[in-house]
Amino acid sequence: MSESFIPYGRQSIDEQDIQAVIQVLRGDYLTTGPMVAQFERRLCEISGAKAAVAVNSGTAALHAAYYAAGLEPGQEIITSPLTFAATANAARYLGANVRFVDIDPATGLIDPAQIEQAITPRTRLIAPVDYSGQPADYDAINAIASRHGLAVVADAAHSLGATYKGRPVGTLATLTTTSFHPVKPVTTAEGGAVLTPHENLASIAARFRTHGITRDPALLQSNQGPWWYEMQELGYNYRLPDLNCALGLSQLGKLDQFLTRRRQIAAMYDQGLSHSKELILPHVNSDVVSGWHLYVVRLAGDASRRRAVVEALHQRKIGVQVHYIPVHLQPYYQSLGFKAGMFPQAEDFYSRCFSLPIFPAMTDEQVGRVIDNVLGCVNNAR
Ligand SMILES: *Cc1c(COP(=O)(O)O)cnc(C)c1O
Repeated sequence: MSESFIPYGRQSIDEQDIQAVIQVLRGDYLTTGPMVAQFERRLCEISGAKAAVAVNSGTAALHAAYYAAGLEPGQEIITSPLTFAATANAARYLGANVRFVDIDPATGLIDPAQIEQAITPRTRLIAPVDYSGQPADYDAINAIASRHGLAVVADAAHSLGATYKGRPVGTLATLTTTSFHPVKPVTTAEGGAVLTPHENLASIAARFRTHGITRDPALLQSNQGPWWYEMQELGYNYRLPDLNCALGLSQLGKLDQFLTRRRQIAAMYDQGLSHSKELILPHVNSDVVSGWHLYVVRLAGDASRRRAVVEALHQRKIGVQVHYIPVHLQPYYQSLGFKAGMFPQAEDFYSRCFSLPIFPAMTDEQVGRVIDNVLGCVNNAR
């Protein structure tokens, strides 16, 4: 049997998902229609949030959430360097600056003990990233935020459906953002959402999604007739079409089953790899349930072997990936003054990490193939 390439992540689409999208194509609304509100209601039920605002990417969700949190030009956000660039970029869109705080090397999550020293009079919000699907330490982060009058915007692109001390992602921060990119917990192709316990902040994000336009009689400055609307602030077209919301709604019905399978795969990796002295396996804090978006291992010894290991695994059709090149090392952020060496824990984590394939449709046989090849490659590269 010829063995096929195993990607690090991929969507799971079934016939029900396909039919849900086809039904929208046959109907009256392709873009903003009834599926948007249904999808948002279901997101609230799943996450415990009071309000959800669906947008057309996780990046748009971050932009809208930072805006709703009141982030203004010249102000600052605090986030982790071990994330996708969008977490930081969305602050730059608003003319704000980014202060990175190094990670806890055990988990890859922002280290709450280092946050307070990064706060300045210009800080507006803290943006923890639920790296790999594990919620950050929200009790510690929220306590710091409330001492300093800051908002907390959780980048939960990896962690929809995860819990922290029994509380679901979506209830842990002032605002929470998700992504529905195909590799994420559920997909709408492209998409994202802002979740929040605060209806007033959701209204701000909802206006931001559609050009800053309102038709709410309570907000209008005048009213010249049934066509009247007012653009009172500068917004964007960040709307998520009905087509995508129908796919997302169908996918949300399978979130529990997807998470269960991700947990099973993680447990198989734990068991199959734990005896290797060459690898550091992911650590999950005892008070969280991870969404297992990523299963990130690190080389224990000489990190310079990482490239050879990744290349050898690619040759064996195992699609390992690296999450993430620390954002402050990107040329754009270097041009803003960031330098290698500033966040040593994130840089060390990056230098030795790679993510193993994990996605709901992965078979036990594929998991076994990954384990065998990873063990083979890390031993060969020694
Ligand atoms: C995927 C991702 C994003 C961006 O989401 P898009 O939907 O691709 O725009 C932001 N932050 C993190 C941590 C992500 O993994």
